[in-house]
Amino acid sequence: MPQPQPAAPAAKPLSPMQKALRKLGLVRPMDFALHVPLRYEDETRIVKLRDVRPGEVAQIEGVVTSSELQFRPRRQLIVTVDDGTDVCTARFFNFYPNQQQALSEGKRVLLRGEIRTGFMGCTMLHPSFRVAGGELPDALTPVYPSSGNLPQAYLRRAVLSGLERAQQAGLLAETVPAEALQDLGRQLRQPPWPLAQALHYLHHPSPDVSVAALEDRSHPAWLRLKAEELLAQQLSQAQAHLAREQLRAPRLPLREGGLHEQLLAQLPFSLTAAQRRVCEEIAQDLQRGQPMHRLLQGDVGSGKTVVAALAAAICIDAGWQCALMAPTEILAEQHFRKLLDWLTPLNVGVAWLTGSQKTKERREMLERIASGEAQLVVGTHAVIQDKVQFQRLALAIIDEQHRFGVAQRLALRSKMQPDADGQADPHLLMMTATPIPRTLAMSYYADLHVSTIDELPPGRTPVLTRLISQQRRDEVIARIGAQLAQGRQVYWVCPLIEESEALDLQNATQTWEELGEALPGVQVALLHSKLPVAEKKAIMAAFAGGDTGVLVSTTVIEVGVDVPNASLMVIEHAERFGLSQLHQLRGRVGRGAAASACVLLYAPNEAGRVSETAKARLMAMAETNDGFEIARRDLEIRGPGELLGARQSGSPLLRFADLEQDALLLDWARHWAPVMLRQCPTLAERHLERWLGGKAEFLKA
Ligand code: ADP
Ligand code: MG
Repeated sequence: MPQPQPAAPAAKPLSPMQKALRKLGLVRPMDFALHVPLRYEDETRIVKLRDVRPGEVAQIEGVVTSSELQFRPRRQLIVTVDDGTDVCTARFFNFYPNQQQALSEGKRVLLRGEIRTGFMGCTMLHPSFRVAGGELPDALTPVYPSSGNLPQAYLRRAVLSGLERAQQAGLLAETVPAEALQDLGRQLRQPPWPLAQALHYLHHPSPDVSVAALEDRSHPAWLRLKAEELLAQQLSQAQAHLAREQLRAPRLPLREGGLHEQLLAQLPFSLTAAQRRVCEEIAQDLQRGQPMHRLLQGDVGSGKTVVAALAAAICIDAGWQCALMAPTEILAEQHFRKLLDWLTPLNVGVAWLTGSQKTKERREMLERIASGEAQLVVGTHAVIQDKVQFQRLALAIIDEQHRFGVAQRLALRSKMQPDADGQADPHLLMMTATPIPRTLAMSYYADLHVSTIDELPPGRTPVLTRLISQQRRDEVIARIGAQLAQGRQVYWVCPLIEESEALDLQNATQTWEELGEALPGVQVALLHSKLPVAEKKAIMAAFAGGDTGVLVSTTVIEVGVDVPNASLMVIEHAERFGLSQLHQLRGRVGRGAAASACVLLYAPNEAGRVSETAKARLMAMAETNDGFEIARRDLEIRGPGELLGARQSGSPLLRFADLEQDALLLDWARHWAPVMLRQCPTLAERHLERWLGGKAEFLKA
């Protein structure tokens, strides 16, 4: 029975302004203090109209010589101002009566805005204005990141008051040990600014500052802020690492003659050197009493599945259960079949769990899992649902981990029941074909061990990639015929139409009909996400069995599918796909010994162009087959923000520092974070509190 929740104390309702501030994440004084300006406006100077240039943002002062309300073409106030050197006409569209009053004839005003010139002479469109006579500000005016309806003036006051409160509460006091600061000074070849000074400066820079240095974030005030942020990130990583070291997991020793060896002996191939190496790394982890936290990265087709199977074998051999989770049903099913093939002869009980299962089958599986009769459980997200109770889970494997969020990884971890020895955490093996670039690995995944399969199984021929214009579609279709004549099979992936699955489908259906007509006597199948699961499976099975020659598909085949006889991949409107997605798709071919090809059909947009970033993606695909190089280029094209994305990391991104640009500061933070945790934990605590406050840690799972 759910307990009734105690009523929360009646809180004062937030004003719309407070709500808007909250939306910007501005709650605690420190949030305000760290809400630094986007850019600055110079209101310290007044220029003469004689000296202004078109396009320039300028502040002028003069007397209103005429002020006239017009209603056509829209309501506007047209004000002419004379500053003694020239006149300027300003148009205002939204104004209150008191503002109209302040802009009436004879008043002396300051106008600030972009200067335009035309046949009307000098004009300003909706400039900011104020009544002349007050003192000019003595600092640049900061412009803060805002949400639409929050006026800058209000935000500015709120930020400055927050900064003041933070200062008074001692929140800006130094937390970085002197020794670390000295080292930072050596790295930067200048003494680092104290944090309080840096923040005051950013919110209130003096007029003679180089605005460029502030805006490109190379000013010492910025450097200090970035160093602080990176240090917080590294501290939280180091803390997570310490916390993980306290955790206990079952020891899973490698037994001579055990299941692991039996599986190896009956595989139809022998492992590559790289596979052997990563297996050893995993086996090492599994026999320690601490939970493994390892990422297995290897390019598409490098053979990660068998490594997962071997890890599972070690776990099962030690008397524990293993779970393997894949992001799509097709992929999960494929794993299930393969593992069933490999492990059933060794008398391993394998269970299967997905969302689409019939109730009866599902209940049966749940029972087998709870009783421990199922030693290996393969499935989709269904594996982490509440109802699923393992008898003794010790190893969780997540395939294509970038498709899962932190919450799902945590849920999988929570499947383990604490036992009498307090062993409460399973070992975690995550697999991905999208390698994490080094800088990201160092900062976001510092507490993650990485194993890399850097070699493909022998006998593969690299996939030849061609960029072909949509206009030559017919030639491509002819080429399909040639492939089929050689007994090969073909994938045709249809364009991705953003936000419209209906259009996606329509497109795919058309292509399917078109190919059917162009290739008489050939089985052409259509696979898309709207099909019932059973039908999807039947279609995949027919393709895997070689009964279907061409598989037309929306991107449901994106990850993991393994049909070695397929040797041609056509991707239509390739310019719409992301780079790692293209690489994943291409990885569906080149899995057998036959020479394979990938055709990227591209089409210019209405303006007759392919965007620069799309071009960069397509070129990267044409130039390299190497997943690591692809990942590097992807990082270059997209930046780490998007690459990490909330879905992938679940961690807040850096707001101030840039991993590539600030590599020096990152190195510094990486060095000092563990030292600080050991030597001055209280300062470290304060530092983390300042930067993260009540917010989530940078990395939890
Ligand atoms: P991925 O790393 O993309 O998940 P898979 O595990 O699906 O790759 O492996 C791709 C194909 O290569 C599969 O058909 C698999 O059985 C095969 N394979 C894996 N390891 C080897 C090996 N050492 N020698 C030959 N074939 C292998
Ligand atoms: Mg795979």
